[in-house]
Amino acid sequence: MRKSLLASVFIAALLLTCQSALYASYGLNVIENDSIGVIYFNLGKAYNVLRDQVKNFDKTADTNTKNQVEEMLKTMPADNPLGKDLTVSKINEALEKWHNDAVFIPTGGVWISVSKDLQPKVVIEAQINVNKIAEFLKSAPNAQGTNFEPKNNVIKFDVPGMALSAEISNERIVVGNVSATPQQLGEGWQPFYKRVSSPDQHLAIELEVQSIIESVLTLNQQRSAATSEKACAANMRVMLAATEMYNMDNEKMLHELDMKALVADQYLKEAAVCPDSGTYSARGDLAENGEICCSIHNTAADLKKFDGPAKPQPKIDVVSQLPDPRLQHIVRARIFADTAGMLLAIAVKDEPTRQQFKEMLQQNLKMAEEQLSQNKGDARVETVKKMFAALSHVDRAPWLGISIKQSENEQILVGTAIVGVLAAIAIPNFQKARLEARKKACFANQRVLLGATEMYNMDNEVMLKELNIEPLLKGSYIRSAPVCPEGGVYGSSGNLAEGGKIECSIHGSVD
Ligand SMILES: [Zn+2]
Ligand SMILES: [Zn+2]
Repeated sequence: MRKSLLASVFIAALLLTCQSALYASYGLNVIENDSIGVIYFNLGKAYNVLRDQVKNFDKTADTNTKNQVEEMLKTMPADNPLGKDLTVSKINEALEKWHNDAVFIPTGGVWISVSKDLQPKVVIEAQINVNKIAEFLKSAPNAQGTNFEPKNNVIKFDVPGMALSAEISNERIVVGNVSATPQQLGEGWQPFYKRVSSPDQHLAIELEVQSIIESVLTLNQQRSAATSEKACAANMRVMLAATEMYNMDNEKMLHELDMKALVADQYLKEAAVCPDSGTYSARGDLAENGEICCSIHNTAADLKKFDGPAKPQPKIDVVSQLPDPRLQHIVRARIFADTAGMLLAIAVKDEPTRQQFKEMLQQNLKMAEEQLSQNKGDARVETVKKMFAALSHVDRAPWLGISIKQSENEQILVGTAIVGVLAAIAIPNFQKARLEARKKACFANQRVLLGATEMYNMDNEVMLKELNIEPLLKGSYIRSAPVCPEGGVYGSSGNLAEGGKIECSIHGSVD
């Protein structure tokens, strides 16, 4: 009796600990032995720190920092989601509203891994209101045909357009085939695994550089192989049909493939060419159920049997495709960031190459230092400098890189800072690209208007000297009045009958 009680208590305890271990390590499960790259970002921590910092900004920031931040916010584009004249208190309001809505609150990591076949696995740990997320998903533009209805508080669906399953519960989002228990990992992934098991870790990226290059190249090769096989099979079917037609029309039938005869008598528009330069011939008697055969792809029937490439592809010569052959020696790359600082490093398996890279690194660091000292007044430069207490080399074969120690009194998360810096770089670029695109569209409009006016002036005795949309529309010189994507107004400068120009009130004129 007592024995069985003890046993059941023991089993219960075991189950409990297993379960909590399972829960705590769910994100770790994206790392597998066949992973070739893993990214981890402690979104929960970043979210808490960000929320805290914004909330207490007024109390904790000194006047100088306050001015700098508010100044920086003023430079944000006016069409950002929070509206123009962005301030810290506006961000605080939005964040608190977001938090209180409790639809999606990050509680842990964002984990992304990619395996050799380039299939991703994603785990995002968050407190999620499944019903509200379901509503949101249903209203998404390409959600038609996908069932987002939660069952037992879990949404399961296939990601539209990708062969990936996804699952949203109130604890996490899981995309791809993520196993329930962590794998026994090989030596290669152990350091990474240990790193991301620590709650102090903010950001960890590790890439098997050569495997990634090889996988991408292989996938491209397979894709192009599949396309050329399809094209070759189509060729063979066309030639067979042409030969059959020829044999129906002519008394002297073709028993062999005779491309010249087929082209000469117009059964083929031109000689068929295999995309992989195979040569075509007949297998069997073409007058009696023979087939066309390619020296590389065999027959169309052979190709039909395979979904993917018909034959195993030759191993790719990766080195010949690299911009610099020395890159073949970089086996791993790492970015680690935790409370203490940050590490950026690569593992180079060839020592002479590693020494060459080391010299390059030293030169680049020297240049960066010079640039920093030139931009001394820049607020951003000063912030970056304040964040980092020390910069040192990582020079421990096979590793090479830099380690940045965070200033102890700076409560900025390096991981968060990186994301911030990346966003700061990406947003203006994105903005710039969009503005460029609008300008281009506007110039295209201007060319249309000028061309239409010139046509009008050739056809009509009373010429248009200024831009006048109405007669252009009436005479069908344009189908509709072009609209500047930024709401500029079109006019003209000079005499349009004599080399004048179309002008936009916002974008000016072409050239
Ligand atoms: Zn072929
Ligand atoms: Zn314009």
